[in-house]
Amino acid sequence: MSLHINTITGLRAKLQRGEISARQLTQAMLDRIQAVDGKLKAYLWLNPDDALAQADTADLTKPLGGIPVAIKDVLNVTGQPCTCASKILHGHTSVYDATVIRQLRNAGAILLGRTNMDEFAMGSSTENSSWGITRNPWDLERIPGGSSGGSAAAVAGHEAIASLGSDTGGSIRQPAALTGCVGLKPTYGLVSRYGLVAFASSLDQIGPFTKTVEDSALMLSVIAGHDSLDSTSVPAPVPDYREKLNAGVKSLRIGLPKEYFIAGMDQEVEAAVRKAIQQLESLGAEVVEISLPHTDYAVAVYYLIATAEASANLARFDGVRYGARVRGADVLETYSKTRGAGFGPEVKRRIILGTYALSAGYYDAYYLKAQKVRTLIRRDFEQAFQKCDAIVAPTSPTPAFKIGERVDDPMQMYLSDIFTISVNLAGNCGLSLPCGFTAQPKLPIGLQLIGKAFDETTLLRVAHAYEQSTPWHKERPAL
Ligand code: GLN
Repeated sequence: MSLHINTITGLRAKLQRGEISARQLTQAMLDRIQAVDGKLKAYLWLNPDDALAQADTADLTKPLGGIPVAIKDVLNVTGQPCTCASKILHGHTSVYDATVIRQLRNAGAILLGRTNMDEFAMGSSTENSSWGITRNPWDLERIPGGSSGGSAAAVAGHEAIASLGSDTGGSIRQPAALTGCVGLKPTYGLVSRYGLVAFASSLDQIGPFTKTVEDSALMLSVIAGHDSLDSTSVPAPVPDYREKLNAGVKSLRIGLPKEYFIAGMDQEVEAAVRKAIQQLESLGAEVVEISLPHTDYAVAVYYLIATAEASANLARFDGVRYGARVRGADVLETYSKTRGAGFGPEVKRRIILGTYALSAGYYDAYYLKAQKVRTLIRRDFEQAFQKCDAIVAPTSPTPAFKIGERVDDPMQMYLSDIFTISVNLAGNCGLSLPCGFTAQPKLPIGLQLIGKAFDETTLLRVAHAYEQSTPWHKERPAL
């Protein structure tokens, strides 16, 4: 029956009409995983018996009743491993559910398993995983993007109906673009971060990967909302994000940032994005040029703030409380041996950089300066949004690159997120959806839509209008 190729919306109808059971659907997903995950390696951990048991008791009247989803290995699920793809957490088992997991359970979702990622969400290709690489379903020689590459590959490869990832500088939107699915980074404060292992706390947000915009709206309605366990979560009512999906784009103003079409951008990506802009215009949107003048500083600012926060957040992994330990003669030697053996090279690079940026004598020149420029970047968006309702841009400057191509060149790797990072620094919302394919090889291209803070409704509305008027979301990788 090929159940695995369906959307949440399509499957809910089948489940509710009694055409299929949740067990049948979960079994179909497990069969699909069995068939293709040997090639893709999207999953790190599965518990088929537990998934089937969840299916047997799933409440099909709930918003995600009986829908199998995959979870990035950075979110705590009681009784499951949570390694953040790091050696330092090998052997660690979670003792509580993240808030988003509790919300998924309450909504009736089936938790299939845990997906691969760059270690502690640091990277853009999922090559920085201590468990090995994940492959792009469209071309097994290429990366699926990162850091949520496993969650993206699982949805694009139809090994999950939807999944959760986290986005600190682009880690949902960039892999969504590179694998041809829909990836949403909600506004900072909309989704609780409780139970998300922190990378950079002022930037991290959890969000969904789905096959369609409608499914993304549904997932967001489930995971959004105030949570007293996350002090940065905002006490605002959660609308039904599907309500305005069909409102169209007539009379909406779409901003085109002149700084986002840069030299060095792949020509097919640029052509596809420009065509998408024309499409939005033909649907009745008014396209206006806007400026985000501090865009050039975003990558530098991000790699100071994110690394500074990471150096503090990762101090807790010391071989005492969590996961792996390498014993030394005394406690200090135990710390350094554990951290020396447990962290991979990219994580070490960031801890060193972040510690330096925060150290006495350099704090003002680096960290404080970066915070000031962050404010300017945020103001750029505030000003731009006086002229438009949403912003359109590429998600990634290139399609998926080859495995190994950028691993030895951190700067090249960091530039993968040149169009996504500013949104995290400003705190507003962003979404990537498919807008075409390259010719040879056939690789997905992503369109990024950026919305005002807490205006996911408009973001999803524009995305849905574009998606429904184009064929891209119907394409499937051959595998
Ligand atoms: N690629 C960026 C980084 O390496 C963003 C990662 C993320 O969003 N978690 O930091």
